[in-house]
Amino acid sequence: MRADNLKEWKKEMLNCTQCGFCKEICPIFDKVEWDSSVARGKMALCYGLYAGDIEPDESVLERLYQCTTCADCTRRCPSSTKVVEVVEAARKDIVASGIVGSTHRKIAESIATLGNPFGEGKSRRELFGEDPHPARIAYFTGCSAAYRNKETSMAGISILKKLGADYTLLDEVCCGSVLGRIGFSDEVIRNQAEANIKAIEDTGAEIVLFSCAGCLRMFRKEYPRFKDLPFKSMHFVEWLSEQELDLKPFNRTVTYHDPCHIGRHLGIYDAPRELINMISGIEFVEMEDSRESASCCGGGGGVRSQFPEISQQIASKRVKQAEIADVLLTTCPFCVNNLTLGLSEDSTLEIRDLLEIIDELLDVE
Ligand code: SF4
Ligand code: SF4
Repeated sequence: MRADNLKEWKKEMLNCTQCGFCKEICPIFDKVEWDSSVARGKMALCYGLYAGDIEPDESVLERLYQCTTCADCTRRCPSSTKVVEVVEAARKDIVASGIVGSTHRKIAESIATLGNPFGEGKSRRELFGEDPHPARIAYFTGCSAAYRNKETSMAGISILKKLGADYTLLDEVCCGSVLGRIGFSDEVIRNQAEANIKAIEDTGAEIVLFSCAGCLRMFRKEYPRFKDLPFKSMHFVEWLSEQELDLKPFNRTVTYHDPCHIGRHLGIYDAPRELINMISGIEFVEMEDSRESASCCGGGGGVRSQFPEISQQIASKRVKQAEIADVLLTTCPFCVNNLTLGLSEDSTLEIRDLLEIIDELLDVE
């Protein structure tokens, strides 16, 4: 097997002292319970692949793809081992060696041919009926909010209209987050980045808003590796928390789930809470695990598409923590979907994207 990417992370693999502190927080280990499923086991497997001591057989591949890339292990790790970077490097070497599972191959083919991972034939223009045009603000809807949780993208558009913003939608394609998480090369991701950056440049937008945590992470952390971006990338909630909003009251008990991609990966914790605090009537309660130590929803890193049962079990655990409130808010359509799959039949918890609530409460008379 090729190990060009793992080679770059040799020092990081050796950084792991095998102390095992990561065991108590890894959502995958919590369900799988094999040492090879936790960060230290993954580091040992990655080193074995790099050194050529083990083969990428089915059991090794299973362990390396059973990682949501939540980065909670790095937060907990006394040596701050960059586990996500090493796991993603291993996945890149695996894909570069021609080993791609059928689910992931289908996702990559759909993105290459249709611009989205879901096999959907309609472009964003056809979907929303709005042509891109010059504007100060561009809204990058992302694939999940466009094709699966359209209520979120419609809420974003409605908010921009209600606030009289000079905005445009985009001729966007998948940001490439899923490709990066499951091991496709920088070249493949660069193609997505170049198409999206050009679509934004064509509108002259100064600010690009995102409602998907994974898309924003791509624009803030990964796209700048390929090109300087001539615009500012913001999560919708960051932008909204800086606006003057006239909001109707919301008399419910609410909690908030920090998506890993904007939480631990980008450090955005205050903006969603500031926005929630702008709503009168709300009783806001924090879950036991929140902010930097928030538990993962279980959906990321390609886990949901390949291991749906594990993904759902992780979501169920997170949803139980949230049952201290009437409403669980979050700021990522992917998290909304996965957490909803974790609801038990008798649960009365409502799971919503914060954008939808803001749209409903925005008073424009
Ligand atoms: S906490 Fe860090 S150093 Fe300790 S076993 Fe886990 S990854 Fe290795
Ligand atoms: S990134 Fe998350 S799922 Fe992956 S090994 Fe670390 S704690 Fe476990």
